[in-house]
Amino acid sequence: MNRKNFILGLMVILILGSIEVTHAAAPKAGLPCPKVGTKQVSKGILFTCIKSGKKTVWNKGVQVVAAPKPSPTPSLSPSPIPSTTPTPTSKSSESPAPTPSPTPSKVISANALIVQDLFNEVWKRDIKSKAKYEIFIDPSRPDSKWAKEHVTFIETTIELLAKMGYDLKTSSKIYIGWDWKWMQKFMPRDSWCYDGSWAGGGYCGQGINFINLQQTGEWLRTGGQEIDWPSPEVRLAATSTLAHELGHQAQGELAEASGRRNLAFYPAWLREGGANLLKAVVYARMNNISYVDARELFFKMTDKGCAEVPLMEMLMSGNHPKNCNYTGGFVASEALIARDKNTTALFRFGASKIADSGPKFDQERQGISNETYRSVMKEIYNIDIDEWHPIVEAEIKIWTP
Ligand SMILES: [Zn+2]
Repeated sequence: MNRKNFILGLMVILILGSIEVTHAAAPKAGLPCPKVGTKQVSKGILFTCIKSGKKTVWNKGVQVVAAPKPSPTPSLSPSPIPSTTPTPTSKSSESPAPTPSPTPSKVISANALIVQDLFNEVWKRDIKSKAKYEIFIDPSRPDSKWAKEHVTFIETTIELLAKMGYDLKTSSKIYIGWDWKWMQKFMPRDSWCYDGSWAGGGYCGQGINFINLQQTGEWLRTGGQEIDWPSPEVRLAATSTLAHELGHQAQGELAEASGRRNLAFYPAWLREGGANLLKAVVYARMNNISYVDARELFFKMTDKGCAEVPLMEMLMSGNHPKNCNYTGGFVASEALIARDKNTTALFRFGASKIADSGPKFDQERQGISNETYRSVMKEIYNIDIDEWHPIVEAEIKIWTP
């Protein structure tokens, strides 16, 4: 992030800033706080209440970037804080602990923190998947190290989908290989995958998924070798593809169950952005890092240049010319979950009651029409896109400059 956007983000917080966390008296590092785990933003810093010896105190905090809320009369005076938590009264609050003022260095998306908390709750659910899957590895490279890494993502992804309430119903067939001729034999002729050698991986409908390791090799110019990943961000991008594709399978199953439509019913930003968000969630889980850290790796690696691209240009059944549906779409999907306060927001679009793909299918983009998109956003999320899009687009500016 450049300095300008950083400052913009800070100003936004100072002016309008509230994120969806508990409000109470302004916290300061080392001062007593009401309850362990409580979070509160003050002056652009997100404080978390932690236990310190026998006391509970605010930690040193992290810098937060929040999306601006549209307000007819932006005002520099702080808005009144609705206080649901009683202000803690403690003798020690009279004499503040001698802690240095916080010196946060990291900038974190407020939406990402909410998404992280929501997925942490999802992982705790005691739900097991009943989904069936088969994995096929290219016989020309039966001991492929890269293929094995992809395989490790499958079970965790399938468990996650079950815990989110979208256990896969179609049994999956997952083909992982280097030789497109081998893979193509298994690709449905009527799907894009049949001519999909250009893609690193894909979901083809009917439970069929593929991973094309040749693409990874070409991307990293390894000369056909399966090298060790040069950095964690490359590792995330290269290995977590099946979390993305199985996410599509879950999206597709939901859309198919609700009428004569398929994955293409989803706006491109949610279809690809949501699937990419799942990559970060699963990668974090498997590598024992936080979602926020995995997301940071994701944004280190991805294309930029989506700051000025409106969400309305990311509704097609294909991809945005600059692939902004993958990156801006990630940011937007995060914003959607954070607003909806439910991880199911990633999928529910496909459960719309609207008939087929809506009354005015858009032939040009081979996707839903603007009108259908608008009405489904209202129907499923109670979102008025005229209000919500500017908020999300401001957030996209910050993360995919
Ligand atoms: Zn995809």
